[in-house]
Amino acid sequence: MERVETVIATYHEVALKGGNRGWFERALLRNIRTALRGLPVREVSLPARVVIQFAQPVAWLEVYARLSTVFGLNNLIPVVRVGTTYEELEGFVAAHLDELGEGSFAVRCKRSDKRFPLTSEEVCRRLGAFIQKATGLAVNLEHPGTTVFVLVQNDGIYLYRQRFPGPGGLPMGTSGRALVLLSGGIDSPAAAYLTMKRGVALHYVHFHSAPYTSDASIRKVEEIVRLLARYQGSARLWVVPFAECQREIVTSCPEPLRVVLYRRMMLRTAARIARRTRCLALVTGESLNQVASQTLENMAVIDRVAHLPVLRPLVGLDKQEIIAIAERAGTYEVSILPHQDCCSFLQPRHPVTRTAERTCQRAEEAIDVEGWARRLQHQAQEIRLEAAPWGSMALPSGAGAGQ
Ligand code: ATP
Ligand code: MG
Repeated sequence: MERVETVIATYHEVALKGGNRGWFERALLRNIRTALRGLPVREVSLPARVVIQFAQPVAWLEVYARLSTVFGLNNLIPVVRVGTTYEELEGFVAAHLDELGEGSFAVRCKRSDKRFPLTSEEVCRRLGAFIQKATGLAVNLEHPGTTVFVLVQNDGIYLYRQRFPGPGGLPMGTSGRALVLLSGGIDSPAAAYLTMKRGVALHYVHFHSAPYTSDASIRKVEEIVRLLARYQGSARLWVVPFAECQREIVTSCPEPLRVVLYRRMMLRTAARIARRTRCLALVTGESLNQVASQTLENMAVIDRVAHLPVLRPLVGLDKQEIIAIAERAGTYEVSILPHQDCCSFLQPRHPVTRTAERTCQRAEEAIDVEGWARRLQHQAQEIRLEAAPWGSMALPSGAGAGQ
């Protein structure tokens, strides 16, 4: 299958939202239209499942790549609309018997239009008998070579051969907004992806150590934000010059505490930006015990200064699982390009794995932490970034399979 005119999409979790269902569905349809902008869409409607009708055939791989960024969609199904009656269904199948191949086959039917005169089972039996008689192919319900799927909806009868996994989750923009602390690494973009998957819109903040680290790492973070912006259309990134603050921590505070103190400064600053931009939480890419600064003790001490919930969607995942998410999000390839992280700049030789809040507070008496947080917030440069072009989209596996 190369080109499609009609695509049906299913959604599960949205449907469970009771009284809010209409609101969720409107958000979902709006996000689908946004993702398909520029393609010749004729109509996106919701008779039973989402039905997307194009004015002319469109490359399936392009449609699939775009719809894979619309959270809330579970199955993406390229379909053919064959009409509204059983006779039309049979007539269509009769004209396409040569596409069934040589092996065995099965017919499966789902009927959401209960006014249709045949039950699902009757459709399966009648159409199965018809195909068998016309082609001589054997029916095999357990392991069919080819499956003919029929959907009977109140807006018509649809046929398909294969369905593809969508991204799942909840529609973007239905769960508030959060601010992601984004480094150039693999983890924080994966954390951003998982947060968006639950419907949360995102802003981003990045701390850099220019001129001690190169500008290339800022460009890299911008590129990652552009890739993540595909899931919400566009995004805002605050770039914070962190080097001077780091230097003061280095000259005034005990060396082993550096990383925890850097993080506390980052969180203080991020919390200010979050409050100003109505973000309800901060998000980081930390996973428990991955590195010295990510022990539970250190996380507790770091969180104390945020005064906002700090979400850590990767907390229970190992590196392989995180990489799989980054690949799915489309950020992995960019994340693995070499970069200089601001925390490797002036990195202590023996960072603490556990520390007490009191110890940090004493160390911070040597520097004006609130003054720094205010200055860093004001020095932050805001950049608005549009989504990366679709041409560079990493396709979900299986997208090209089937026919
Ligand atoms: P990542 O792969 O996201 O860089 P990491 O495994 O390298 O994470 P750390 O370097 O300890 O772990 O960073 C932990 C988290 O702190 C990051 O996931 C990110 O949320 C935040 N963080 C680290 N460095 C920066 C930075 N320069 N700017 C913004 N946030 C940062
Ligand atoms: Mg990192």
